[in-house]
Amino acid sequence: SMASPALLMRVVASAYSVAEKAATIVRNVMSAGDLGIVEKAGPNDLQTKADRLVQMSICASLARNFPKMTIIGEEELPTDDVTEDLIEDGHCEEILKKPCPAQYTGIKEEELVIWVDPLDGTKEYTEGLLDHVTILIGIAYGGKAIAGVINQPYYNYEAGANAVLGRTIWGVLGMGAFGFQLTEAPAGKHIVVTTRSHSSALVNECIAALNPDHVIRVGGAGNKIIQLIEGKASAYVFASPGCKKWDTCAPEAILHAVGGKITDICGNSFQYNKEVKHMNSAGVLATLRNYDYYASRIPNTVKESLMP
Ligand code: AMP
Ligand code: MG
Ligand code: MG
Repeated sequence: SMASPALLMRVVASAYSVAEKAATIVRNVMSAGDLGIVEKAGPNDLQTKADRLVQMSICASLARNFPKMTIIGEEELPTDDVTEDLIEDGHCEEILKKPCPAQYTGIKEEELVIWVDPLDGTKEYTEGLLDHVTILIGIAYGGKAIAGVINQPYYNYEAGANAVLGRTIWGVLGMGAFGFQLTEAPAGKHIVVTTRSHSSALVNECIAALNPDHVIRVGGAGNKIIQLIEGKASAYVFASPGCKKWDTCAPEAILHAVGGKITDICGNSFQYNKEVKHMNSAGVLATLRNYDYYASRIPNTVKESLMP
């Protein structure tokens, strides 16, 4: 008989289904029309009813199946009991059938840290830029992002009524990433993708120093990693604090699973152990290819202004 699947694969298979349930919640809140917007730190740091419901759904669903994992979600919510309609207990069979990379077969539940961004790109969600929105579930072990799920609830929403709405991208280090077509960015062009709603003088100074052929300004950390793996952009450059560990964990796992690289602006890798501070204070630099080209062109003055 077949050995039961390794814990990591069971967690990824479950996270896949939990993220699809989350996508339904995100779409339902929007179509119901009452977003219930709350300002957190200020007008550029928002929370909607979708952020709240999805965080409860993801965290409660994963905690029920895997009670010993550490689960860290973006939103601070009252610890009210979660209603049963928010629970997803299914899993993706196709993922369960795949063999776990050998280096991860011995992982125990209490060794996993899950970083949840229930809705990445909230500002854009409230402005109707719906394809910027993603749901991020990152899986960390030994301080490293080793697996992740990115759901894009409004993928294809402008492609007409016959197109399938939404998609789920997932990946595991040593296995690869699935649910999209890996595409190279145009050769010999420097296309930088960056923030749309959290710019600053330093963000723009850093991009200008790279002398890009083109700059794409879109919302969401998850969305920007999708731009890299689908060949729309060659580098994600964000010389500012603001991004948190739940923004980068799932994207990092997927980018690394296909051979890309993500660090802060100074070139330091991110840590995802449960004690780590949430803020990525020194910004983000990510590429699918040619990381060194971009890293070597970040001005020292920019690095110095972001150092702790
Ligand atoms: P963006 O590229 O602006 O969409 O940012 C990517 C992620 O980092 C999103 O989850 C943002 O909410 C978060 N973020 C970036 N900068 C800030 C900021 N200055 N204040 C609050 N959140 C931020
Ligand atoms: Mg986010
Ligand atoms: Mg969020």
